Amino acid sequence: MKRSKWDQRIQRAEELAAAHPFAAEVLLFYKQIATFQKDLYFYIEGAQSEYSAQNISNSFREDLDFSLLLPKFLKFLQLAERIAPTQIAQAAGDLEIQGNGRWHDLLASCWRNAPDFHSTPKDTEALLASLFLQPYAEYIADHSEAVPRNQNLAVCPCCSAKPVVGVLRPEGDGGKRSLICSMCSTEWPFGRIVCPACGEETVEKLAVYTANQFDHVRVEACDTCHCYIKTVDLTKNGLAVPVVDELATIPLNLWAQEHRYVKFQANVLGI
Ligand SMILES: [Zn+2]
Ligand SMILES: [Zn+2]
Repeated sequence: MKRSKWDQRIQRAEELAAAHPFAAEVLLFYKQIATFQKDLYFYIEGAQSEYSAQNISNSFREDLDFSLLLPKFLKFLQLAERIAPTQIAQAAGDLEIQGNGRWHDLLASCWRNAPDFHSTPKDTEALLASLFLQPYAEYIADHSEAVPRNQNLAVCPCCSAKPVVGVLRPEGDGGKRSLICSMCSTEWPFGRIVCPACGEETVEKLAVYTANQFDHVRVEACDTCHCYIKTVDLTKNGLAVPVVDELATIPLNLWAQEHRYVKFQANVLGI
C-alpha cells in the first residue's frame, strides 16, 4: 500500500532526527505536529463523505467550516501546550482558556490573510493557527480543479501563499525546478535560475551555498533583494521529503544569516 504524504513526512522526520542530533528537537516536534495534521486531514475527508451534500468550499476565498474545525482546535492547542517549545506552548495555553469566540476570530483572520500567514513569524498565535489550518488548505488544494500554471509566478497558484522550499526533480540530464507552497503544499514549476522574491535572473547576482553534511540541499540567495530559499535536489537524494529536509538543514540557515540573507518564507515552525 502506498504511504500517504503525511506518513512520508513523519517517517522522514524520524530518520533525519536520528541522523542529525542538532535538528532532533525541531524534527521531533514537527513529527508530532504532522501526526496531528494527518489525523485532521483524514477527519476532514471523512466529514466530507458523510455530509457530501454540504461540501466544504473548494475555494480559498470562502469562509472556513467552523463547526468542523473548532472542536479540533482545542485538541490541537492542548497538544501544542504539551509538546511545543516554551514560547509556542505558552501561547497555546493562553489561547486554550479564551474559548470558541476568540478561536473563531483568530482562524478566520489567518484564513483571510493566508498569503501573509508566516510573514510575521514572531506572531506565535498566527503560527499556531497556520499549523492547524494547513491540512484544511491541503485538503482544498487536493480537491480543487487544476489551476492554470504560470511559470513566472512566485506565489502559489492555488492559495497565493509564498513558497517555503524549492525542489529539483530529475528531467533529462539535469533537474527541473519547482516550488512548494508554504500553506497548501501545492507544487508548481518555476524557472531554474530566477529569484522567486524579486525575479532577478542575472547569474552573478544569485549565490548558491551547500554544506558538507547535506549535499542535496542548497541555499539559493539573491544579492539584489537579499532573500533566500532552500532547494532540495531530488536528483541527488530521491529519499528526501522537501518540507522535512528544509527543517533539518539548520546549518544552512546559519550560513544565510551570517551573510545577511533573509528567508523568503518562514517554515511551519516559524524559522
Ligand atoms: Zn498554496
Ligand atoms: Zn531577489
